[in-house]
Amino acid sequence: MSAPIDTVKGVGPKTAAALTRVGLRTVGDLIYCLPRVYENYQAAVRITDLRPGKVIIRGKISDLRTRHTSRRRLTITEGVIHDVTGAIRTVWFNQPYRAKQFDDKHEYFFTGKYELKNGRYVLTSPSAVLAQDIEKTASESGTSSDCQPIYAAKNVLKPQFFQKILSNLRPEFAKIPDLLPFIDGNPGYVKPGARAEALFAVHFPENAADAEKGRAYLAYEEIFELILAAKLNKHENQRLKSISLPFEAEFIQQIVKNLPFQLTGAQRRSTWEILQALEKTTPMNRLLQGDVGSGKTIVAALAAAQTARNGHQTALLAPTAILATQHYESLQKLFQGLEEAIPGLELPQIALLTGATKQKPRLKKRIAYGEIDLVIGTHALLTDDTEFNSLAFCIIDEQHRFGVNQRQKLLLKSPEGHAPHLLSMTATPIPRSLQLTVFGDLDVSLLNELPPGRQPITTRILNETEQRDELYPKMRELLAKGQQIYWICQLIDESAKASSSKTSGSGKTSGATPVKRQAKKLQELFPDYTVSLLHGKMKADEKDQIMEDFAMNKIQILVSTTVVEVGVNVPNANMIIIQDSENYGLAQLHQLRGRVGRGDQPASCFLLTTGEGKPSRRLREMEKSTDGFHLAEVDLKIRGPGEIYGAMQHGELNLQVASLTDTKLIAEASHHATEFAKHPENLQNYPELASRIKKYQQLTTLN
Ligand code: ADP
Ligand code: MG
Repeated sequence: MSAPIDTVKGVGPKTAAALTRVGLRTVGDLIYCLPRVYENYQAAVRITDLRPGKVIIRGKISDLRTRHTSRRRLTITEGVIHDVTGAIRTVWFNQPYRAKQFDDKHEYFFTGKYELKNGRYVLTSPSAVLAQDIEKTASESGTSSDCQPIYAAKNVLKPQFFQKILSNLRPEFAKIPDLLPFIDGNPGYVKPGARAEALFAVHFPENAADAEKGRAYLAYEEIFELILAAKLNKHENQRLKSISLPFEAEFIQQIVKNLPFQLTGAQRRSTWEILQALEKTTPMNRLLQGDVGSGKTIVAALAAAQTARNGHQTALLAPTAILATQHYESLQKLFQGLEEAIPGLELPQIALLTGATKQKPRLKKRIAYGEIDLVIGTHALLTDDTEFNSLAFCIIDEQHRFGVNQRQKLLLKSPEGHAPHLLSMTATPIPRSLQLTVFGDLDVSLLNELPPGRQPITTRILNETEQRDELYPKMRELLAKGQQIYWICQLIDESAKASSSKTSGSGKTSGATPVKRQAKKLQELFPDYTVSLLHGKMKADEKDQIMEDFAMNKIQILVSTTVVEVGVNVPNANMIIIQDSENYGLAQLHQLRGRVGRGDQPASCFLLTTGEGKPSRRLREMEKSTDGFHLAEVDLKIRGPGEIYGAMQHGELNLQVASLTDTKLIAEASHHATEFAKHPENLQNYPELASRIKKYQQLTTLN
């Protein structure tokens, strides 16, 4: 498997170079380049029998021509496909080479969607292969044309050539060594020779069921590796040293007794779990997971208080200055109240460090000398010149907003030879399947209970053109009760719009109402109330001032971009209107909605749409459920984990076969990987496995 790629028959230096360029260096890399899908060419239909939907047609093509549309700068290539029974039109967009690709004497298989476009049925953007090529490859590789593997487009070689190289390797497949350990109770398909058999079946299937069986095994292998990597990371984490922070039971009880509210059962349990973990000399690596409004901040604050009481420092990292400031102010108020209630109580000295902080050098000195016990801040905390005297505990709020590198930077600020305890907090619930896999190295504390007295949030989708008039009376009614409103819309001033449409061209925001115009309009509609504007491009102190005014109810309607998306807490705001709601993802909508319903009044959320027809699945799910966990599962299904945990953390998490929504598979693999990970030293006996999971280990570390 580790032999260089140019040892394969049919791979000359030029081909080898091309393959190396796309990361295929060894025989193993080549073999793990799995087919994207399988095509059943025997399912080709005659043109007279065509039905709308995905189809395969075997026919010739003629009358090809390409034209340009002036308005959307598209090229359109059209042609006519015919067989003995009839003819249909076909069309490709922005694929001008299609006009020259075909020889009108030969037959091709065309695979595409047969659908109604502008009142006519056409075959849109079909892929095409020479029919004789398919027959030749099938006979050469010993596969059947009813289950032909299709390899991904990233291949720099023509698919048929790629397949040819693989079939040259065909006799070698039986020699592929097993990868996974055999553990008692492994499912049936992990038997000696299973891997060789599976890879063979995937590349040279006799039929669809055969290919499927092969893929099932490979999916198991992938999930096993992913989980094992996370488990091993956990083991490695356990070998690091951290500062032990003994549980000061009496001290904590005193604080808890004097809080302005009673902790929920879930808050008590989580606090207890965390305080226990902080006592250990191995670093805690824990996720505090709780839906929006479940009260995570106080749990973190109690842990920080215990850290300070033990003479060490805590850093609390927040993704936005608004949120950091809010944490700072609410904790300061909380601690002041406690100090007044219990004179002499030693509470943490806290400080705020954001980009806008004045006299930074002075503050940084105080942090370095250990005069500050709890530093709350944004990315400004991460700079090299922010040094701590004794950083023992890190809290990362809204952890999904940070990348691995940023977290790493913070963790490295601990004293030499020590790793800090880490508490990551998130309101973006991590579905169980991901908890077992990608996040398998984390301990989890769960806030599955909202503070008492919270009323459910009612959510409605409103079509702006038809139903907007229903909205204003509702707003009026709420304002008359002395309550407040968030109105969410997109930034885009005219100049930004002009330049962004050139670069992105996505057209996603076109037609959206800009925040400024909306604020003006609402002020005219509600002259008796104060309407204010908030967006990310404003100066930091301006933003702070507006948030403060909103928190004090000096502003009644806050017209804002998504800068208020995470964490912002103004319990008197009980209505949120999200304009152009189709432009937001499900997780984001849920976060935005979480800004309301944080007090004891009923709250409502309106999702405005401008489109025609049925609202998207996302919006309908929002209307049906306020359960963040349920919505996260739905999101995972709609978008897939790559999207959700993509750019930021798992750019490389590139599962070829397995689906992170396959809970049965995950449960099985998890069980076996956990067994194996109990004796990590055994990995020495499986060098190929060890090297394959390295990439996952780097990815899952420090989630
Ligand atoms: P989140 O989990 O979304 O970060 P916060 O920590 O911001 O939630 O808390 C939301 C609101 O609920 C805050 O106003 C907080 O003071 C309040 N809160 C937290 N715990 C309780 C509780 N046990 N009882 C009543 N209110 C609480
Ligand atoms: Mg929060």
